[in-house]
Amino acid sequence: MRGRYEMLRLNLSTFICNPGRHFPFDFRSVGEQATGLFEDLSFRTALEVSGDAFCQLNTLYFKVQIRTTVEQACRRCLAPVYTTVDCYEAFTLPFRTEDHEVDLAPYVLGGITAVLNPRPLCRNDCRGLCPRCGTDLNEHPDHACPVEEEDEHQRLGDFLR
Ligand SMILES: [Zn+2]
Ligand SMILES: [Zn+2]
Repeated sequence: MRGRYEMLRLNLSTFICNPGRHFPFDFRSVGEQATGLFEDLSFRTALEVSGDAFCQLNTLYFKVQIRTTVEQACRRCLAPVYTTVDCYEAFTLPFRTEDHEVDLAPYVLGGITAVLNPRPLCRNDCRGLCPRCGTDLNEHPDHACPVEEEDEHQRLGDFLR
């Protein structure tokens, strides 16, 4: 059983033994295996991370293509919102001589979250949920909860006055 982040770890020995030489790499999660890889991120499709890297002194130089579809919840009605991610990232990653592998997960996560809307909406005019009973106001635009609670406050207010 592989750990959460293990999928995106790259062994350094080949790079260190061949400085300046480019090596391709290709990660692909099986189905929705990538869900749980990063906290708070659900994947609708496989996560594909491919690219190449080379080593120079104690630094790795990466070019990475990230492809996946992320599922988020509409911030008003909680309906699923799908975002297709297809982004390119170039970055350098310094390492220490005692390191055996590098973890691409933070960079991949950064690339994905840069594409995502932090406040996703299923549609711009989403009406959200009734704050009292949770009815989906997109499906029931005419819904109106009885305002008993406010009536009681009103009565209490009258009483106090
Ligand atoms: Zn919505
Ligand atoms: Zn309601």
